[in-house]
Amino acid sequence: MKTLYLSLALCLAGCAEKIPLNQIDSNIKPYIDMWHQDAINTLGHDIPIEFIQIMLTSDLQALGEDGHCYPDIGNYNVIHLDVAWWQTAGDSQRQLVVYHELGHCVLGRVHNNNLIMAEIHTPNGIIFEPEPVSIMYYEAIIPDDYWEQHKTQLLIEYFSGER
Ligand SMILES: [Zn+2]
Repeated sequence: MKTLYLSLALCLAGCAEKIPLNQIDSNIKPYIDMWHQDAINTLGHDIPIEFIQIMLTSDLQALGEDGHCYPDIGNYNVIHLDVAWWQTAGDSQRQLVVYHELGHCVLGRVHNNNLIMAEIHTPNGIIFEPEPVSIMYYEAIIPDDYWEQHKTQLLIEYFSGER
């Protein structure tokens, strides 16, 4: 009986809001808020994130990955992020891996492994380095300086690139 009441309460709450239930680890929520804001700033409108489960796990170490998108597990797209990596990663690295996996799971994006010679400003002057044109680069490695200085272009490619 208790279970029935609980299910009923959950259903009422869920049905009343008419919002598909997402399950997102509270540590990851700030990066989801950032994602919506970047979508609005880049496209002029938001993109809904629906039926997604995002959790910190330790099952990715065997794969050597920081994050992974598992599309269509039951009713959900599921994103796993490696908990050990998460605890030591900086803000922008967390953001980039969350965005990369949302790129697969929400935007339906494939990898873009193209590189460009990018201009990067450093304390010692301007340098040119081959860098990914996309957050959807297969290894998701975007150095902080490059990200900070080329964010607008990278976000345009990210939100409107090849599906
Ligand atoms: Zn990927």
